[in-house]
Amino acid sequence: MPDTMQLDKRQRAMLAEMGVRVWTPIEPVEPLRAPANVSEKAPEANSVVRSKIQNTNTPTTSAYQAAIEATGAIADKPKAFEVNTQAANNLDWPSLREAVTNCQACGLCTSRRNTVFGTGSHVPASLTNTEIQAVDWLIVGEAPGENEDAEGEPFVGQAGQLLDNMLRAMQLSRSGELSNATKPAQSIFITNVLKCRPPGNRNPAPEEVAQCMPYLERQIALLQPKIILAMGRFAAQALLRNSIEKVETIPLGKLRGQVHRLGTTPVVVTYHPAYVLRNLPEKAKLWADACLAMATLNQG
Ligand code: URA
Repeated sequence: MPDTMQLDKRQRAMLAEMGVRVWTPIEPVEPLRAPANVSEKAPEANSVVRSKIQNTNTPTTSAYQAAIEATGAIADKPKAFEVNTQAANNLDWPSLREAVTNCQACGLCTSRRNTVFGTGSHVPASLTNTEIQAVDWLIVGEAPGENEDAEGEPFVGQAGQLLDNMLRAMQLSRSGELSNATKPAQSIFITNVLKCRPPGNRNPAPEEVAQCMPYLERQIALLQPKIILAMGRFAAQALLRNSIEKVETIPLGKLRGQVHRLGTTPVVVTYHPAYVLRNLPEKAKLWADACLAMATLNQG
């Protein structure tokens, strides 16, 4: 293994334990080149790619190769790391959190400031034992944005404020504190499909979703939510991809307003709060979906 690998001993041991294969270039890596299409859509993503390209004078790391590949700069290189679903399935909660913190399965690891594992009143960040309590609600968004990346918490920006307001109306709160509760607080965990921010808030790439899904699947397996609220197209598609054929071809408007299943767990799909902020008349549908989810949970 060449000295150019930027993994420390512990990261290597953890990856080995997870069954993660580290790809090592056999031949010297070609000088990195900017992709032809690096300009228009995501200026921030492009600047990340560009600065990496400009700063690379020596043969690159495989993690970096993956980063370049994931952002579209070089399309035909093998992946550096793969999240091993089977290994993720054996992780307890603290190990899962640690695996996410150290994850380098796709290029987003090079531009993130923090991973965003998720948050919930009944699942404190400091949890150190292997026991985890089932939660009533799992709320799944798309991916961290700029604020979430800075703070390492999901939904802390404007979309998060709308989500918090909605939760309050549902007598839920991420902190577990409710000033005017009229019933015992239900437990809730909030997370995203992607645990790292896509640069420039671009859409998650299918490869990034595929790499990150074992983490979400393991979170679901450990949290055993009574209901899942999937917010936005990417959350709906990721969660229902094995339940609904060609789900990616179905508009979100057709997926919402009904109860789907992930195994036996009910899943209600709704609009992403950021979309609702841009399309305020859709707020009523967001609330209608929240009501459907509440009714489903209360029936179950
Ligand atoms: N949008 C999301 O989907 N998730 C966040 O955490 C923040 C914004």
